[in-house]
Amino acid sequence: MNVSERLSLTAREMPGKDAYIFQGERTDYRTFDAKVTKFASALEDAGFEKGDHVALISGNSPVFMIGLYGALRAGLSVIPINPTYTSKEMKYILKNGDVKGVITLDVLVSQLDVVDDELDVTHYFVADTGADIDLEAFTISPKMKSFTKAVEQGSASFTPPSLDDDDLAVILYTSGTTGKPKGAMLTHKNIYSNAKDVATYLEISEEDRVIATLPMFHVFCLTVALNAPIVNGGTIIVIPQFSPGEVFKAAKEYEATVFAGVPTMYNYLLQTGDGQESTFENMRINVSGGSSLPVSLLEAFEKKFNVRVSEGYGLSEASPVTAFNPLDRPRRAGSIGQNITNVENKVVDELGQEVPAGETGELVVKGPNVMKGYYKMPEETAVTIKDGWLFTGDMAREDEEGYFYIVDRKKDLIIVGGYNVYPREVEEVLYQHPEITEAAVVGEPHPEMGEAVIAFVVSDNPSLNEEAVIEYCKKELAKYKLPQRVEFMEELPKNTTGKILRKNLREHLQQS
Ligand code: AMP
Repeated sequence: MNVSERLSLTAREMPGKDAYIFQGERTDYRTFDAKVTKFASALEDAGFEKGDHVALISGNSPVFMIGLYGALRAGLSVIPINPTYTSKEMKYILKNGDVKGVITLDVLVSQLDVVDDELDVTHYFVADTGADIDLEAFTISPKMKSFTKAVEQGSASFTPPSLDDDDLAVILYTSGTTGKPKGAMLTHKNIYSNAKDVATYLEISEEDRVIATLPMFHVFCLTVALNAPIVNGGTIIVIPQFSPGEVFKAAKEYEATVFAGVPTMYNYLLQTGDGQESTFENMRINVSGGSSLPVSLLEAFEKKFNVRVSEGYGLSEASPVTAFNPLDRPRRAGSIGQNITNVENKVVDELGQEVPAGETGELVVKGPNVMKGYYKMPEETAVTIKDGWLFTGDMAREDEEGYFYIVDRKKDLIIVGGYNVYPREVEEVLYQHPEITEAAVVGEPHPEMGEAVIAFVVSDNPSLNEEAVIEYCKKELAKYKLPQRVEFMEELPKNTTGKILRKNLREHLQQS
């Protein structure tokens, strides 16, 4: 089984059920599946063969969804790329990923045109967004095919090639800890098993309407908001770009039942939620993942909207979900929950030995969702997967009842005069301050202490100052954990998924 085959089965079981809603228009499973088949056959007609790599560069839209499941149905491996990347960033992935075909939007063609001569791309499938763009004017024009026509005119009878569990479905480029992005190779088994295990654990059914506002090129959205609903015939509510207004509108209009977001999204929804208190009343599950959800934010959100927020955890290399707060028991604030179905998490010391409950070590995970390895990087793969366990690079602890708590990224640890300071602990305190809306903490080299704790905060009170923030922290934190400096910012740097980029803050410190 793979996710595209699963889509066909769902379409056979419930053809008239809404598969997705985009810009007010509803598309049922029968129509969705037929479009996917037509696109798969157009790919075959263009000469693509099982195992070829295609890149998918699009925002959240049916183009992404049809492109993804169509390419998978044709037996191709898909490399989703962030559409906001520069040409140079795209080029790196297109080259490193040995991409032969690109599925994209007319508005992104200019980005690709300038790097095409350094690539091995034979075809660009370009979707028409209605923008006024003269596609003929581009050098790559002879290699272009209309995505829109392919989906309309492709053959409706297409026999998918037979696929093995171990065949590559998706290669996800993730920034990892150092250097250039690495391509996490996810097989059909990886992707399908996690979709199914998440759907089972979250009890996603045909009754669910799931908001897809996280970027689809990110595995969090791919699994939780696309593949998992498709497994049981849920409806996907596509939001092209996150904004609190769009989420509130969609939640009300379509009586959404599942919302998946990163903590910064919860923060924006909370900040702008006055008058929207009843919006989430149909929301059965609010999933938070991608980075740690400050406890004060979780509690304030739950109180304001009268809902429950369940935190989970995952990473690209595990397709992604490994742990989640169970739905049938009270959620534990600050915890990523327990093992999801079929997946094992454990905390180990530097020698790889499991540590007792309560002790901090590295989180390692095992299950059918763990990647095959990094594309063309056997050495990186060997240090990341040992004896079938994926080393996540995240520090964690487990309690007596099998709930895991992420302490922080291993690489973000700050060492002050020999003492360990995990930024998250300081950030949790900063988030408790009623006038601080965003906070991030990084280490800065310090001549005597090795490193110093520096806090970056966003506040809507212009008179809040450094001294007051440090005073506030003194009540909660030991002296060595206190920020030495507090910098006020209008907004913290984030990636397109909404994760706060501590890396950029460290660079900012180096430059200033
Ligand atoms: P990505 O591969 O982009 O999905 O990023 C994976 C990383 O996000 C993990 O290794 C963690 O560092 C972080 N992450 C994901 N979920 C959580 C969570 N609930 N709490 C803390 N960090 C998280």
